[in-house]
Amino acid sequence: MIRITDILDKASNYMNQSELALIEKAYVYSASAHAGQFRLSGEPYLSHPLEVSNILVDLRLDAPTVASGLLHDTVEDTRVTIEDIQNNFGQEVADIVDGVTKIGKMTFESKQTAQAENIRKMILAMAKDLRVILVKLADRLHNMRTLEFQNPIKRRLISQETLEIYSPISHRLGLYKIKVELDDLSLKYLKPDVYNRISNWIKQHRLLGKDYVKKVISKLEQILEQNNIKGRVSGRQKHIYSIYQKMKKQRLPLDQVYDLIAFRIIVETIKDCYTTLGIVHSKWPPVPGRFKDYISMPKPNMYQSLHTTVIGPDGEQIEIQIRTEKMHYIAEYGVAAHWKYKDKKIINPKDEKRFSWLRQILDWERDLKDPKEFIQSLKIDLFEDEVYVFTPNRDVLALPQGATPVDFAYMIHSEVGDRCVGAKVNGKLVPLDTKLKNGDLVEIITNPNHKPSRDWLKFVKTAKAKARIRHWIKTEERATSISLAKEILEKEAKKLGINLQKELKKGTLEKVAEEFSYKTVEDLLVAVGYAKLTPKQVLNRLIQGEAKKPDSIKNKIAKNTSQQEAKGTDEERKEGVVIRGAKNMLIRYAKCCQPVKGDPIVGYISRGRGIIIHTSDCPNVKNLEPHRLVEVTWAGEDNKTYTATIKIISKNQKGALALIAKSLSDEGINILSGSFDTKVDNTTEMFFQIEIDSSEHLYSTLEKLSKLPPVIEAIRTTGEIPKIN
Ligand code: MN
Repeated sequence: MIRITDILDKASNYMNQSELALIEKAYVYSASAHAGQFRLSGEPYLSHPLEVSNILVDLRLDAPTVASGLLHDTVEDTRVTIEDIQNNFGQEVADIVDGVTKIGKMTFESKQTAQAENIRKMILAMAKDLRVILVKLADRLHNMRTLEFQNPIKRRLISQETLEIYSPISHRLGLYKIKVELDDLSLKYLKPDVYNRISNWIKQHRLLGKDYVKKVISKLEQILEQNNIKGRVSGRQKHIYSIYQKMKKQRLPLDQVYDLIAFRIIVETIKDCYTTLGIVHSKWPPVPGRFKDYISMPKPNMYQSLHTTVIGPDGEQIEIQIRTEKMHYIAEYGVAAHWKYKDKKIINPKDEKRFSWLRQILDWERDLKDPKEFIQSLKIDLFEDEVYVFTPNRDVLALPQGATPVDFAYMIHSEVGDRCVGAKVNGKLVPLDTKLKNGDLVEIITNPNHKPSRDWLKFVKTAKAKARIRHWIKTEERATSISLAKEILEKEAKKLGINLQKELKKGTLEKVAEEFSYKTVEDLLVAVGYAKLTPKQVLNRLIQGEAKKPDSIKNKIAKNTSQQEAKGTDEERKEGVVIRGAKNMLIRYAKCCQPVKGDPIVGYISRGRGIIIHTSDCPNVKNLEPHRLVEVTWAGEDNKTYTATIKIISKNQKGALALIAKSLSDEGINILSGSFDTKVDNTTEMFFQIEIDSSEHLYSTLEKLSKLPPVIEAIRTTGEIPKIN
């Protein structure tokens, strides 16, 4: 078991006394919290946090990170709370420990690979501070190193998760050493036979190849010397997992995987890198298609190097990497390396948007003098444009930032979206416009009879949800207009003694539709519903098509039509076209509640009288057949006016009426009619029917009226003006 003194020793190379004191304090605290606990290996539990902080100190991370490594399991596994950590170690350490604890609570085991990318992003998004990830990776690395003490099922699950989630994360952060170890350990538990075969083979090969490696190294050293380039050369065995991948990818048996050894030349300057490459290529022929210039085009994880494969002295393929000292350090330690190399400039390439945040960090870093500020700059939203949430099956869905349960429902399935009536987030019922947060567990409550709401368009964020809701509205409007058209036609037909149902069955309407150039009867009905055709026009054609009809009916039609046409469809339509949900349909306003623009309203498909608009709170709505109610809202601007009735109680004094009338006219309101009644208590009750353009205007006017000296009360009322005289 590693001792705290070893860790403090290493840390003292780059930390001051107060930083070391923080680590020591964290050690004492962790030791007492974990006292009496043991790991499956039989070791005291404390050995785990110690090893984790040792890994962090090897990465030369700062004191709060190393302290967090020591404390990372206290909240999860002991009675210590996050508040305790905050009180003893401050907000910074508490935030890191809290982040690690939260990620630890999520289980991603046994999920399909397709989910892995979302899970990785979710972890990164939840972390908010890269140091959380660094502690989590150190934690996972030590757990993998001691995985043999777990039961076989757990071993597989944890290895799978490591391979799919944590190894790629460490790769993206450029933590190459950690990635290699996580990969190899995962393979060891997932495919023990393959792992053993490769590792045994490497041991033999290493012995056989020793002279060969020496030979290549000394040749490369010679090349450097002859050309006055300062540098060092090393030969590195490829790690087991990468050999396994190579075998899989190239479908090669183990003994045909040639480039098992990668040679590395580390020189002083970028210029030396290219010079060295040129000389190597002139000595040994390069294998076509294997040269990669990651210096001018760095990888998203900041990796820089020249890669080439050449035909070596014995005719074997050898892979050579050429890089500077600094590139080498970054390649080995990734993000962590920037604590050491913070003054050097990094090339800013254009590729890969997704991980540009990493380069952003580096860009900011150039302007930052204080390394503390650099740590602050790691506290960024890694994927600020997306939010990651769990389904009840523990799948992770990626949604745009600001997405709501309705977006989530449509993402699951269109049907789920259409029928969504409610949602639970983390077990609690929430409004459908709630903005989802990273890590939320979302459940959708559906009702098979429920339909999407136009209001959803106000808050949904995904294109899919928007498209589906719009599609539904269109379909619904069409259906409404069809049933509306049927009602109107039926009513008109009855007047003419025509049985529309019969005609529909006979198919006569199909001919009429054709004559008006509509493809189907439905399209014809839609046209009537949207008032593109009048019922008369349709019925006229219907009759004309029926030569057999007795004259009396024809006459009746002619008479009826001319009458109606004289009055014009105007009467029917003058109130129309202002309502969404009943666009271009025949609309009337209910007399009982006199809706005014701005009022919450509901539409009722009447029998043959178009859509009647009531205010939502109109008492009569309750008595209407619910299946005939349609959702409607006021459409954009228009210059229409509405009729409203107001009631004013005023003191019975001279000039009161004139004052009120003037006030109304000042507001630009037209008075249609009025009535007055003097009461015994010496007040006057007045009713005015007025023309008004919106409910807002109505209410602001009422407020002004009620402030007039003689006025006691001014309210809106509905219905007919009482006949008093
Ligand atoms: Mn742990």
